[in-house]
Amino acid sequence: MSPSVRENRRPALDRATVRALSGAAGCSLSFALEDRICYSFDATDLHSLPDAVVWPRSTSEVSEVVRAAGAASLPVTARGAGTGYTGGSVPLAGGIVLSLERMNRVLGIDVGRRVAVVEPGVVNNDLRDAAEAAGLYYPPDPASLLVSTIGGNIAEGAGGPRTVLYGTTRDYVVGLELVLADGSVVSTGFLASSGGISWDPASLVVASEGTLAVVTKAVLRLSDRPESYATFWVEFPSLSQAATAVAAVTASGLPVAVLEILDGETLACAMEYVRGQRPDSVSEGALLIELEGSDVAVAGSTERLRDRLVANGALSFREATDDLERDEIWEIRRSISPSLARLATGKINEDIAVPRSAIPEFVRRMHEISESTGLPILAFGHAGDGNLHVNIMLNRAERDQMRAARDAVGLLFDAALKMGGTLSGEHGIGITKADHLADELDESALRVTAAVKRALDPTGLLNPEKILTDRPNPWWRDLDGDATPRTEAERC
Ligand SMILES: Cc1cc2nc3c(=O)[nH]c(=O)nc-3n(C[C@H](O)[C@H](O)[C@H](O)COP(=O)(O)OP(=O)(O)OC[C@H]3O[C@@H](n4cnc5c(N)ncnc54)[C@H](O)[C@@H]3O)c2cc1C
Repeated sequence: MSPSVRENRRPALDRATVRALSGAAGCSLSFALEDRICYSFDATDLHSLPDAVVWPRSTSEVSEVVRAAGAASLPVTARGAGTGYTGGSVPLAGGIVLSLERMNRVLGIDVGRRVAVVEPGVVNNDLRDAAEAAGLYYPPDPASLLVSTIGGNIAEGAGGPRTVLYGTTRDYVVGLELVLADGSVVSTGFLASSGGISWDPASLVVASEGTLAVVTKAVLRLSDRPESYATFWVEFPSLSQAATAVAAVTASGLPVAVLEILDGETLACAMEYVRGQRPDSVSEGALLIELEGSDVAVAGSTERLRDRLVANGALSFREATDDLERDEIWEIRRSISPSLARLATGKINEDIAVPRSAIPEFVRRMHEISESTGLPILAFGHAGDGNLHVNIMLNRAERDQMRAARDAVGLLFDAALKMGGTLSGEHGIGITKADHLADELDESALRVTAAVKRALDPTGLLNPEKILTDRPNPWWRDLDGDATPRTEAERC
């Protein structure tokens, strides 16, 4: 067992509870340590052991498991693929991990109404493929699209490279089937027989990170497939110039579907990862741009795009001439996350967002923070909607570096908020940003959030210790000399 995995010291589950859970979940239930370890973490590197893992295959099984867990006061943490970056699917309070991965069917695509009906465990890219086979298009495309699930995308309100033109997952949810904390099943929006006569609970559940309900079915809006697209790779002498060009491009009115930024070190790492050797030199800033739309709109936009970029200091402007070249460009973008492991054993990835016009100022401030804390901070992300992933590179075993990272995170959040931005463009709050939530939301907003949680989940069964919690960020635990000793209940 990894030294960072904490055993759950809760008294062993009593027989009646085991029987109730087994009855609810049939054979798809495990108390085995190896399964519990596999479902104890997400992409944050935080770990906490659940007491059991359950793999339901139907809404009624989800409902029975939630009821049985509620009767035994066992917390329930819904889980998609575990790619979350804020600890959302880490079962901090132990209890049941409810893995939705086996509810993975595309139930239907209604071409006339342009919607897809899916189970929550469908992988994002599988829905994109199914939509394409029906001649339609599902635009939300988190960079984790080959792995992350629609349930996780809905629960996080996931964005992605195409958010700049198409919006986030929220904009595509037209109906949800939900299992509430008492086990009851509610249908909303498109799935509700009453149509639109009341307020829509689905709007609350999107981005609620599994704290209000479990999504068991979703109806998602599909778009027309774009007639045409064109992909460009553009390099700049500095990250600041690339950032300045972002605002110029988005203000141009061109059909920009993707506008991704990368700094020089990120670019070098990704190229080394893809090509097997580090390039001799790279530019300090790059943009990946895609135009999408009608043949006429795309064809007529290339020259205007080039003019804007050259006027903003572009060193080079390359258009992919075929799908192979396009794939090569995207491979660099999609390799960023794994490639950064070559630079340091650990990273802290924060996804702040600022107004696009503030990106150059934020980049300048980020460089100052990197210098003052002595930690490399790399930046890339969906600049087209102001979303920057700032990656603090470090060795997590070094307390000095972790203390410096804690300072850096506070300063980066502070800078983003002062520039009119937000703590999270897409990764959510989970546990790793919860201690900064009150920096962004005022007291009334926090009160409303707490009231909604109390109304839908009065006993705090669903994904406890996330978003609204006094629990400190586990990353920073034990960093100070006077750190309070861990209690038995703390498992992370
Ligand atoms: C390499 C990489 C790239 C990424 N790129 C992006 C990106 O471009 N855009 C972006 O937005 N995010 C990105 N992410 C973050 C992550 O992929 C998204 O947050 C994604 O939506 C999580 O989906 P998941 O299936 O992995 O969910 P999980 O990580 O398993 O869970 C995430 C949250 O959703 C809840 N949840 C899961 N399923 C359900 C359900 N059925 N009902 C209720 N709650 C549920 C969980 O409790 C948890 O709080 C990236 C992550 C990685 C590792």
